[in-house]
Amino acid sequence: MSKVLVIGCGGVASVAISKCCQVSDVFTELCIASRTKTKCDALAAKLAPTTRTKITTAQVDADDVQQLCDLINSYKPDLVMNIALPYQDLTIMDACLACGVNYMDTANYEPENTDDLAWRAIYEKRCKEAGFSAYFDYSWQWAYKKKFEDAGLTALLGCGFDPGVTQAYCAYAAKHEFDSIDTIDILDCNGGDHGYAFATNFNPEINLREVSAPGSYMENGKWVEIPPMSIKREYNFDQVGQKDMYLLHHEEIESLGKNLPDVKRIRFFMTFGQSYLDHMRCLEDVGMLSTTPINYNGQEIVPIQFLKALLPDPASLGPRTKGKTNIGCIFTGKKDGKDKTYYIYNVCDHQECYREVGSQAISYTTGVPAMCGALMMLTGEWTKPGVYTVEEFNPDPFLDALDKYGLPRSENHDPVLVD
Ligand code: NDP
Repeated sequence: MSKVLVIGCGGVASVAISKCCQVSDVFTELCIASRTKTKCDALAAKLAPTTRTKITTAQVDADDVQQLCDLINSYKPDLVMNIALPYQDLTIMDACLACGVNYMDTANYEPENTDDLAWRAIYEKRCKEAGFSAYFDYSWQWAYKKKFEDAGLTALLGCGFDPGVTQAYCAYAAKHEFDSIDTIDILDCNGGDHGYAFATNFNPEINLREVSAPGSYMENGKWVEIPPMSIKREYNFDQVGQKDMYLLHHEEIESLGKNLPDVKRIRFFMTFGQSYLDHMRCLEDVGMLSTTPINYNGQEIVPIQFLKALLPDPASLGPRTKGKTNIGCIFTGKKDGKDKTYYIYNVCDHQECYREVGSQAISYTTGVPAMCGALMMLTGEWTKPGVYTVEEFNPDPFLDALDKYGLPRSENHDPVLVD
């Protein structure tokens, strides 16, 4: 019996909301609030005949703490699910603290304007001290830990698939499969084909910024940074086949490095096709990935936002995308004094996702874990005051929920390793 406020009504939020509506005994009341209320109304109208969950909608600008507080105080939710953009993480956390409500999200904070001088000064200091240069990192949200502890509230960070399920896989491996883990390789493979020469599977701004940044991995507790896309491997993925994959910086490496400090190396690889990479390099070379506004015919334009307007809406890829995703973690380490390897992963079919909730697998594999994370918080499995990432909670009930609600795990105790 709980009331949940969901902020955002894009690709990921639509799946999370659809899945919440399949668990009406827990998600008894849901308010969908976003910048564009018509999208919330359309989703509410679609879901209402299929669910016992009582759905309402609201308009909110989540950059504005006062607007958020007014909405939270009038709706009085037990939990706020932030499934808007990483730009809104801090304002929504501030509002949750002010109103005494638990918080969760699917991606860590990054600023919308990376030219902001105050932000840049802190960022540049962090680059030097920590040794990685991604625009996003956990420091901003970890800084809220004491405030959430003092308020007796829980904040769950990054509960999508990666970050999210990948860390639950790590916690599961540490709990059940190993006495000590030496290496973790997180492999994110999208074997889907949408038929366009170039499109991104989720928010283009967030996606392109992530992919065009330098890669990095953690070795013996230190970051090693490499030029973008400079480490390439091939891997034969179960139910997808042979794919090229590239080492990327990814946010869960940072929290895993902190919470599993004995692991000697943590890397993240994502698959990309040649056409995607060629387009991205070209767009970057001509300045279309820039976040710095330019003046065009008297109007201020942010190049990457203009590009977003030209590209297909990720939500529209659902009916066109065929194939499967395969995301998981390969571990090496020791059990009972013997060397051991282990691979835990999920395979998800784009077309099956579309048939069930009207979205492709990228939104599905993020939205289902968001619902399952909320389920953990609302049913008392994951509640401790403070700010936490997924690997800091018991993975067992979460992985059981994922098995049940659409993202079942597969295991391999003798996987091919990545060199
Ligand atoms: P979309 O762009 O599809 O949706 C974003 C939603 O947020 C839209 O409804 C948008 O409203 C709303 N929004 C944006 N700004 C504001 C604001 N100021 N106030 C209120 N609402 C706002 O993004 P996705 O669904 O693809 O991604 C959602 C989140 O999931 C992102 O944080 C992304 O990084 C994360 N993600 C996490 C993954 C993981 O595995 N952990 C994988 C993929 C994504 P409007 O309709 O008006 O634009």
